Amino acid sequence: MELETPRTFRDRPINIDDSGHRNWIYAKQPKGEWYTRRTIVAWIAISFLVLAPFIKINGNPMMLFDVANRKFSIFGQLIWAQDTYLLSLIMAVTVVFIVLFTVIYGRIWCGWACPQTIFLEMVYRRIEYLFEGNYRTRKKEGPGSATFFRKLAKHAVFIAISILITNVFLNWIIGPEKLWKIITEPIHDHLFGFFAMLGISAFYYWIYAYFREQVCTMICPYGRLQGVLLDSKSIAVTYDYKRGEPRGPKNTGDCIDCHACVSVCPTGIDIKNGSQLECINCTACIDECNIVMKKINKPKNLIRFDSVYGIETGKRSVLNARTYAYSTVLAILVIILAVTLFNRKPIDTTMLRIQGSIFQKVDSVTFSNLYMLKIINKTQSNKSLQLRLITPKSGKIQLATGQSLLKSQGTLESVIIVNLNAKDLTGKSTRIEVGIFEGETLVESYATNFLGPDGK
Ligand code: SF4
Ligand code: SF4
Repeated sequence: MELETPRTFRDRPINIDDSGHRNWIYAKQPKGEWYTRRTIVAWIAISFLVLAPFIKINGNPMMLFDVANRKFSIFGQLIWAQDTYLLSLIMAVTVVFIVLFTVIYGRIWCGWACPQTIFLEMVYRRIEYLFEGNYRTRKKEGPGSATFFRKLAKHAVFIAISILITNVFLNWIIGPEKLWKIITEPIHDHLFGFFAMLGISAFYYWIYAYFREQVCTMICPYGRLQGVLLDSKSIAVTYDYKRGEPRGPKNTGDCIDCHACVSVCPTGIDIKNGSQLECINCTACIDECNIVMKKINKPKNLIRFDSVYGIETGKRSVLNARTYAYSTVLAILVIILAVTLFNRKPIDTTMLRIQGSIFQKVDSVTFSNLYMLKIINKTQSNKSLQLRLITPKSGKIQLATGQSLLKSQGTLESVIIVNLNAKDLTGKSTRIEVGIFEGETLVESYATNFLGPDGK
């Protein structure tokens, strides 16, 4: 006779039953100091998400990711598609930051700062508690019952919140001014945008009302990365098995096996089984276990932020040499990025000799070269610019279009003619420096070569 092997948490995700159907997770609402802290962090994050596109810094939105126009604003600093070095730096710093942050602090991002968790746990789940109560198993009653109408009302609020969230994210992509214009103009002028907004709202509603924790446990690539990034010294929400085992009401360990920690877990797992991919480090189980520990007169923090190494050796290792070292590297990276971002030039210039052109002889002592000049104004104000030769000073420079006003966020492209006296030429190729001035202020300088006749 073949013996059936008991199923464990390692055989299949906890939210899938033996027949492959979804096991709905109805997590109890946590309460305690970690939940309070998380609520505060969540509301700061939500306020930032909602307000950042409205706040102006130097006339630019605090945050804007206008992908269609390839224009980004980060803390009021405009970044254009031409700022490739900056975009590359941001991407490189982000990747290194994610790796280092995860190695040290585990999945804290997921439980505390990820928009998916913030909206699900702090907005939608709270609305659900409000309408349906804080039950471990939701009541199922047919149409016409009080439960049915409570559910109906809950879903109506869910839909309204989903539309709101879509508009919050649209603010980040197109900016509040454009969004307001779209909202106030007739729908038929923006049919595509309107249906796109409805589609995205429906998607959010489906995610938060139905799909929920499966985003973290099945889809999110960052969650999958944990397996390769975490090691025994990484900090995570961890059960102190040394103190807790052997568990049970009549055993000697501190854990009384009450399952309170499982009842609040939004991904439905049992942290006593050790580090698991599904754990988003939300700390709900810490709070719940601390309540139990208080009731049975045991020290709190049987479940806590610690590393496997810390639990095994008994040495609290949340702050150690490695944490300090990696955190220092993270801080340096952020400082480099911030300094680069805030010290960018307000205008960007390229000046290239016109292809195939050499020098022209203007008169017996003067030679000229032609260049193509491109200036991008990255600021929100119009600029009246003049070109002057910095080296050699005696040369002359002339804009073929004669245009000197560069509109905010505009581009000026023009042929320029540089005339140099033969006495200023140092050879076949002479280094020149062109200054772009706003009044008497040098805004940008550009060095290039001036071609002259052979033998000078
Ligand atoms: S809440 Fe604490 S005591 Fe209860 S099962 Fe979880 S770890 Fe054990
Ligand atoms: S095990 Fe604890 S920290 Fe991890 S997701 Fe569940 S409740 Fe949150």
